[in-house]
Amino acid sequence: MKTDLIVIGAGPAGSMAAINSKCDAILIDQRPEIGVPKQCAEGVSESLFEKIGVKPKKEWISKEIKATYMIPPSGIQIKLDDKKVKKAKFGFVLNRKDFDKGLAEIAANTGAELMPKTRFIRAERTERGVKVYAKQFNKTIEIEGKILIACDGVQSRAAKSFGLDTTLPLRYIESCYQYEMTDIEVESAVELYFGRVYAPGGYAWVFPKGENSANVGVGIVPSLAEKRAKDYLDDFLKQKRLKGGKIVEINAGAVPVSPPMKKTYANNLMVCGDAARMVNPLTGGGIHTACISGSIAGKIATKAIEKEDYSEKFLSEYQKLWRNEFGRELEYYGKAQEVFIKLTDAELDKIAESLLEIKLEEISTMEVLKAILKMNPKLLWKLKSLVV
Ligand SMILES: Cc1cc2nc3c(=O)[nH]c(=O)nc-3n(C[C@H](O)[C@H](O)[C@H](O)COP(=O)(O)OP(=O)(O)OC[C@H]3O[C@@H](n4cnc5c(N)ncnc54)[C@H](O)[C@@H]3O)c2cc1C
Repeated sequence: MKTDLIVIGAGPAGSMAAINSKCDAILIDQRPEIGVPKQCAEGVSESLFEKIGVKPKKEWISKEIKATYMIPPSGIQIKLDDKKVKKAKFGFVLNRKDFDKGLAEIAANTGAELMPKTRFIRAERTERGVKVYAKQFNKTIEIEGKILIACDGVQSRAAKSFGLDTTLPLRYIESCYQYEMTDIEVESAVELYFGRVYAPGGYAWVFPKGENSANVGVGIVPSLAEKRAKDYLDDFLKQKRLKGGKIVEINAGAVPVSPPMKKTYANNLMVCGDAARMVNPLTGGGIHTACISGSIAGKIATKAIEKEDYSEKFLSEYQKLWRNEFGRELEYYGKAQEVFIKLTDAELDKIAESLLEIKLEEISTMEVLKAILKMNPKLLWKLKSLVV
């Protein structure tokens, strides 16, 4: 089988790469059904669709969000809503099963050959470019192309085939456990619970999906924790407002909360999304960055194929462009996360108290960080140099 571009992984990064490529492309994914199972709390900011130039379908969005609650161990609630946030656009809770499948459908409809249930095994460089060996229904198939885009998520193997260092130290792996629950009370608001009591190194969340359903989960840094993520989640469910809720789906997964890979390109290769560790380490959010990096890689691949230049020098433009888009932000958030995970529950309570009268221009991680700094110059002096 021959093509120009081979994309590994039809998550948001891979499908956006295929959508943005204007060349012959094959998009493979190991899953028999794209988007299933979901391993995500599905929260995205309001700007996502505009930024990636894709019109969302109705079924991609489970819930429009109108407020955010931040809840420290003391239990006080910092409510951010249109009274506290000037440009009150809070984003959405997606339906990732439909969103991921929908993006893959757009990729297929714009010309990419989509191959579900096709598992990447390894790749090698050839005179023409690259050769991928994959397993499809117990049969090994070979795909030859000129460029490979690795979008195979946190457990990426594709980039390693070409010699890039994809090692993810244990301390940078956030372990997540989530139940999709029904028969619970929800508002059109996301709830974020901070503190070691809920989730050491991360947070617990309730992200509403429907009238009475939500993704309820925890993300923890295992090296800071005393028990498994599932145990923290089961304890979290004991609180009154979640009692009686019924579990309809169980999801587990890992989030790479490290800085992005230092080098995300090589001859014939670009690496995107979780595979390149492009996640906001403070929130664990990576859909936005996966979509943007995938889009950029798809465009650069098209240019490279037009110019018949698949060298790492040419493809280095990819890294320049994604860094311009979100590289600096990820750097700040990474440094901030190093500070936050060391805070005690008492310190988090104090910060939360200082935020009771918070007013924001808009809702974003950066705006909230700035507000915390303003209210807690002593406690968070370490963060001061990070936020400009
Ligand atoms: C519990 C949890 C909650 C999260 N909540 C949020 C959230 O609320 N908001 C947010 O923005 N982010 C969230 N994230 C992170 C988000 O899910 C990821 O950052 C995002 O999915 C990254 O997209 P991606 O395309 O890079 O990788 P993925 O979405 O992981 O896609 C990778 C694709 O590659 C395929 N693949 C892997 N290996 C192979 C192989 N060998 N051969 C073929 N195919 C392969 C997989 O099947 C998959 O389809 C969460 C993550 C977890 C685990």
